Amino acid sequence: MGNTLHHAHLYLSLGLAVLPLHFPFEREGSLQCSCGKATCRQPAKHPFGQLAKNGLKDSSRDPETVQRWFDGRSLNIGIATGTISGIIALDVDPRHDGDTTLAGLEAEHGPLPPTWRFLTGGGGEHILFRHPGGTVANSAGLLGPGLDVRGDGGYIVAPPSRHISRRAYAISVDHHPNDVLLAPPPEWLMQRLSRRKPAAKDAPQERTDWRGHVGATHAEGTRNTALASLTGHLLRNRVDPFAVLDLMLCWNRAHCNPPLDDDEVSATVRSIARKEIDRREAHHAH
Ligand SMILES: [Zn+2]
Repeated sequence: MGNTLHHAHLYLSLGLAVLPLHFPFEREGSLQCSCGKATCRQPAKHPFGQLAKNGLKDSSRDPETVQRWFDGRSLNIGIATGTISGIIALDVDPRHDGDTTLAGLEAEHGPLPPTWRFLTGGGGEHILFRHPGGTVANSAGLLGPGLDVRGDGGYIVAPPSRHISRRAYAISVDHHPNDVLLAPPPEWLMQRLSRRKPAAKDAPQERTDWRGHVGATHAEGTRNTALASLTGHLLRNRVDPFAVLDLMLCWNRAHCNPPLDDDEVSATVRSIARKEIDRREAHHAH
């Protein structure tokens, strides 16, 4: 409890607006959302209406309000994204291959700059950037599968909230606001976000993109994304990493025009394999 208040004060000191959220509580041996609805669709993630009647609109940067909300209560805490807090957040969900999508984008455009990162209780990550001005809409899937953006009118569940799976949200020790500056979003990211939203009829293809990758020839713009996507797909299905590397080296020569350097293929496969191994270990640990 004190921990939540401590985090709330950190967020206020960073100029972020926070809001009280429902939390998981133990009932008959399992965790349920504190709203009490068995059919809750966002367990332990939605605004706590008793304190924030208008939901997200009640987000606050006022120390007294925040003290009243969190002192002595075991609530989860949200951070409003958008202009109100001066941030946008990249929401990486590995259960929907968001880590693979991000690895593909980084292979194509270069790694993201150091900035604040929060680990989510669902095994993913919130990567925060300075709000670039204007309006940044919330979006799902615009950057690829499992990679969403929380902007104006959105919020993220923040550390030290507890996930319904019992895991806690935590500030990444290597990307703590006390040590790292909040970076502006890379230009390529903003360019991708300003593109047209994919038509609804395209959406179901996301999960079977792999078939397109093995049948098509990839030019410079799509090679890295396709490589990362296929590699992630194979590793996720427990194909041995050395077999994956061999397959991807062959795939690169057969389907990329011009092919990537072998070293680049190896580096991408290695990076995704490491993330996949971390993910499996995290699963075992919980
Ligand atoms: Zn609920």
